Amino acid sequence: MIEQKAACPGCGRPNSAELCGDCLQWQKQVGFVLENRGLFYYDAGFRQWIEGYKFTGDYRLRGAFTAELNQALKNYRDYLICPMPLSKERFATRGFNQVSGCLELTKPAYHFLLERKELAPQSGKTRAERLKMEQPFTLKVSKEKIRNQRVLLVDDVYTTGRTLVHGAELLYQNGVETVKTLTFAR
Ligand SMILES: [Zn+2]
Repeated sequence: MIEQKAACPGCGRPNSAELCGDCLQWQKQVGFVLENRGLFYYDAGFRQWIEGYKFTGDYRLRGAFTAELNQALKNYRDYLICPMPLSKERFATRGFNQVSGCLELTKPAYHFLLERKELAPQSGKTRAERLKMEQPFTLKVSKEKIRNQRVLLVDDVYTTGRTLVHGAELLYQNGVETVKTLTFAR
């Protein structure tokens, strides 16, 4: 697992005790920095897990780190836990949401607060293209439900941070007090 004290306070990148260059860029671009925590290194073991689970679709693998996830979620007791949504199209292809699949086994209930619009697939795009993307989310719940609340967005992997930043931006625009993020790997 990633040593939190030695990770970037913005994106959870290992071995970067201060805000890293990418996070400083985000701060300039969107005016805030995420407080992301990454649980595991994106190493060979994690890659094997995500390939079997997300890409091959072995749903039984969703419980691989429930204990660690439960432990991490204890740091967000007064937060609404929100898995990052898939587009309807992606959901239909995969048959499950890989994030809520894991969160179904953990203690706090989760809530889908965001909905993902249909968009062209991410893979095959360059990093620059991904970073320029339009807001891919809309609100799934009423503003009243989230106003002045704290929200924890959960995703499987932190890549550029773009998706999580979009999610956080939309929540802040709709009156959420604090957004933090948690990813299975970094
Ligand atoms: Zn960072």
